Amino acid sequence: MMFKVANHAPPTPTAETAAGTRNSELVAAATRARQNAYAPYSGYTVGAALSSTDGRIFIGCNVENAAFSPSNCAERTAFFTAIAEGVRDFDAIAIVGAPAGARPGTRLSCSPCGVCRQVMAEFCDPDHFTVIVARTLDTPEDHQAFLLRELLPQAFAGDITREPER
Ligand SMILES: [Zn+2]
Repeated sequence: MMFKVANHAPPTPTAETAAGTRNSELVAAATRARQNAYAPYSGYTVGAALSSTDGRIFIGCNVENAAFSPSNCAERTAFFTAIAEGVRDFDAIAIVGAPAGARPGTRLSCSPCGVCRQVMAEFCDPDHFTVIVARTLDTPEDHQAFLLRELLPQAFAGDITREPER
């Protein structure tokens, strides 16, 4: 089951528009990144665009492998690229995934896998980090947004491992 992001306070029209524009830009960037996906085995190509709090965008695509286990999802490709660039503060990620031959207008729902949700939990505030899932290939403004906490409740996060026992 999927939930829409709950608004913490009634957003001003300007704030709502700014978030919508940011989300649409991320979906468009993820759509472009998807073109570079390497998915000869599943035929399911995915692009991701991760935005950092300083306004940068890091893209990723899925990269498969004949041995399967070395394959990497688009979301983690984007995260690991950002981490390698020294960036660790993020506010949103957009994901666009579909079978390689999908036509424009195809209804999509490419939700991040459990492993990618766990990577998000390592670096992101679950009550603010937004996961944006595109619903079509050709309409960036048609998307759904979720808070990370909705997608990974009760996450095993780093702060748990650092808290001393009482
Ligand atoms: Zn994944």
